[in-house]
Amino acid sequence: MPKILIIEDEEAVRENILDLLEAENFETIAAANGRIGLHLAISEVPDLILCDMMMPQLDGYGVLTALRQDPSTVTIPFIFLTAKSAKSDFRQGMNLGADDYITKPFTRAELLSAIMNRLEKHATLKRYLSPKGLINNSSPKMQLLEISLHRAIKQHNFEEFEIYYQPIVDIASGKIVAAESLLRWQSLELGLIYPTEFIPLAESTGLIVPLGKWVLKNVCQQIKVWRDFGIYPLIIAVNLSVIEFNQPGFIEKVVNFIDINGLEPHYLELELTESMIMQDVNSAIATMSKLQSLGVKIAIDDFGTGYSSLIYLKNLPINTLKIDRYFIHNVATDLQKSAITKALIQMAHNLNLDVVAEGVETEAELEFLRQQNCNFMQGFLFSRPLPAAEFEKILLTNKCLYID
Ligand code: C2E
Ligand code: MG
Ligand code: MG
Repeated sequence: MPKILIIEDEEAVRENILDLLEAENFETIAAANGRIGLHLAISEVPDLILCDMMMPQLDGYGVLTALRQDPSTVTIPFIFLTAKSAKSDFRQGMNLGADDYITKPFTRAELLSAIMNRLEKHATLKRYLSPKGLINNSSPKMQLLEISLHRAIKQHNFEEFEIYYQPIVDIASGKIVAAESLLRWQSLELGLIYPTEFIPLAESTGLIVPLGKWVLKNVCQQIKVWRDFGIYPLIIAVNLSVIEFNQPGFIEKVVNFIDINGLEPHYLELELTESMIMQDVNSAIATMSKLQSLGVKIAIDDFGTGYSSLIYLKNLPINTLKIDRYFIHNVATDLQKSAITKALIQMAHNLNLDVVAEGVETEAELEFLRQQNCNFMQGFLFSRPLPAAEFEKILLTNKCLYID
C-alpha cells in the first residue's frame, strides 16, 4: 500500500485525514509540524505528502522548498492543504513545485481523487524513467480499484452494486425464456466499472466470496419477486467464479437461498466455465451432480474458448451449452467459425443439451443460428443487459425477437 505522510499542525484535521486514509488501507505517517515532517520525508521517503501550508515556524512553503532541493525527495508527489482559496497562495505553492492543492474543508472524494491522480501520474513517470519500463507491483489504479472494491463490499454494504439482466430468447418462438444476471459496479470514486475489470480482482483478494453470495441472494429474491408479480416463469442464470464453486458449503448456500424464497430450483441456472471444471474434474462433477439432482440447472459458459474438453462434455452433468461470442461474431461469413459453430450445435443436441449463442449482434448471425436449429440467442441484437426495472418493462410489453 502507498505510504502517505501528513504534515498538519491542527490535531483535529490531522486525525481526520489519518482516519480517512487508514480506512482506505493506506500506510500513514503523521507530523505535527514542518520540521518533523521534513525529517520524516527524508527518513521514510513516503509515496506522497499531504502538507498544510499555514504552520508556525517552518510552514508548508518552507517544507516544499527543502524537499525540492534534496534528490531523495525531489520527486515525491506533494499536495498542499490550504484554508484559503486566495489565488496568490496556491500560485506560490504551485510555483515552488507542488503537484496539487486542496482547499479546506474538503470532502473525502476530493481528497482521495487528488491522491490517486498524483500517485497514478507518478507511477507513469517512473515507468518511463526506469530503464526497463517496468514496475513490479500493481499500479496505483489497481491499488485504488482494490481499495474501493474492499470498501464497497465491507463498508458500503454492496450499495454500489447492481445486477443487470440480459434476456435470452428462444429463437423459434422469439420469446424471452431466460435471462443472465450480470453484475455492475457503480463506484462512487471511479464511476461505472465492468465485471471484466473487477471480478479478477475480487477473485485474487477473496472478495468474490461475499460478492458472489450477494449476487446469488439477490437473484433468488428477484426470481421470487417476478414470480409473485405474476410474470411467467423465467430461468435466471448466475455466473460463478471458481473460488465460490469450490468453497465448502457452496451447495448449502444455494439450497438455503432457494428455500428461503420458496423457489422451484429449475428456475435457477448456474454458469460455469470449462476451465473451472477442468481444475479438478472429479470434484467439479460431484458438485455439479449434487446441484443438478436438487433441480438446479447447470450451463457451460464461454464454450470453445477453454480446454476444448469435448471428450468430457458427455460425462458432465449439464443442461446448457453457451457458445462463446467469439465464434458467433461474423459466424455467417467466416467459414471456420460457421463450421465450428455448426459442429458445436450438433454435438450439443446429440448430448441433449440446449444451446445458447452468446453475443448475437446481427440479423445475419441470427439467421445462421436459426438454420442450424440453435435453441436460444443472447446478444445486443435483441437487448443489452438491463437494470431489473427495465428488464421487467420489456417482459411486460411482451417484447419479441420478431416483429411481423
Ligand atoms: P459472460 O458470462 O460470458 O457474460 C456475457 C458478456 O457478454 C457480458 O459482459 C455481456 O454484457 C456481454 N454481451 C452480451 N451480448 C453481447 C453482444 O451482443 N456483443 C458483445 N460485444 N457483448 C455482449 P459483461 O456484463 O461485461 O460481463 C463480463 C463477464 O463478467 C461475464 O461474461 C462473466 O464471466 C463475468 N461476470 C458478470 N457478472 C458476474 C457475476 O455476478 N459473478 C461472476 N463470478 N462473474 C460475473
Ligand atoms: Mg455468463
Ligand atoms: Mg459467456
